[in-house]
Amino acid sequence: MGLSKTIWTDLSEFLRATRPETPVLFFSPAALQATARRFLSGFPGLVTYAVKSNPEETVIENLTAAGVHGFDVASPFEMRMIRRLAPEAALHYNNPVRSRSEIGVAVSLGVTSYSVDSRSELAKLIDLVPAKGTEIAVRFKLPVSGAAYNFGAKFGATADLSVELLKTVAEAGFIPSLTFHPGTQCTDPGAWEHYIRAAGGIARGAGVKIARLNVGGGFPSHRLNGQPPQLEAIFALIDRVATETFGADRPALVCEPGRGLVADAFAVAAPVKAVRDGAHVFLNDGVYGSLTELNMIGVINRTVVLTPEGQKRAGAPRNLIVFGPTCDSVDRLPGEMLLPGDIAEGDHLVFFGMGAYSTVTNTRFNGFGELSIATVLSLKI
Ligand SMILES: *Cc1c(COP(=O)(O)O)cnc(C)c1O
Repeated sequence: MGLSKTIWTDLSEFLRATRPETPVLFFSPAALQATARRFLSGFPGLVTYAVKSNPEETVIENLTAAGVHGFDVASPFEMRMIRRLAPEAALHYNNPVRSRSEIGVAVSLGVTSYSVDSRSELAKLIDLVPAKGTEIAVRFKLPVSGAAYNFGAKFGATADLSVELLKTVAEAGFIPSLTFHPGTQCTDPGAWEHYIRAAGGIARGAGVKIARLNVGGGFPSHRLNGQPPQLEAIFALIDRVATETFGADRPALVCEPGRGLVADAFAVAAPVKAVRDGAHVFLNDGVYGSLTELNMIGVINRTVVLTPEGQKRAGAPRNLIVFGPTCDSVDRLPGEMLLPGDIAEGDHLVFFGMGAYSTVTNTRFNGFGELSIATVLSLKI
């Protein structure tokens, strides 16, 4: 992946000047810092960044510059990278299943916050991590929907098991906390309400006063026209419900957004390779490239089509089937996309809100997947 040092005014200028044939991710540091400030000023607690959603170093550096000083990390690679780029930042190791050697790396890097969702993994932490000054957050799950897909399918203890784990954490001398993840792209604020009230029940059931409640990631990005994310409404609800639930014992709050912080700071411009017989659009990017997520959580309809000169197409909209470049029939975007009817070979189909789970899940399948990043002052067209 090439990183251009030049800062371009906007997408059109870049496309006109360079005529790229491979997909380009446009990054607006100003947009990223603005979203970071929205979280930092609106969320009633500590804002950390889930590194897996976009581990580009420029993203980490811009978040740090904006005032984000905590990171949710899941692997030795991520821990070492953050230690290098932001040596003073707090590392929250919230991947609840770890090998013993991974735990060893965390201890050697001074990690003092872990999450856990099982007896066997808690036993490993008790064995290997010094308890004094170290937080262990029990990750619990509920059968709650509202997100684009169910995160509870892999991680999270039931409420009953969480009561037991929380007691064990406290008895072993660790700082006891609770954590959950409502599922990614969670557009229903009610999901947080269910989880926070359940956290209250678990803490009471265990007879443990929790130090912190980590309300996860899951904050939505702007994928659909006319449906901007309601971040401030979610923050206000979290604040109110935390007070109602815990009263005088209200824990400090933590959030760990990935998508909600980074997605809207990037747009992808995918070259149109062909419009086959006027009916099928073939892009030089697809579900094995930076558009991996679209088949899992649904299409993004915040798009524009730009001509090779960087002009916006405005032909009468048509429903079109859109394919990626590989020879695999799975490489197709879900459903049909309503696109300007005059879309043509050599154009670029631009998807907004593409900063999360795009650069990092791109593959080189079938020889495609060469991505570059261009920095722009603004993502406005
Ligand atoms: C992936 C992940 C996140 C970020 O999720 P988003 O939906 O991108 O906000 C936060 N916390 C944990 C533990 C995760 O695994």
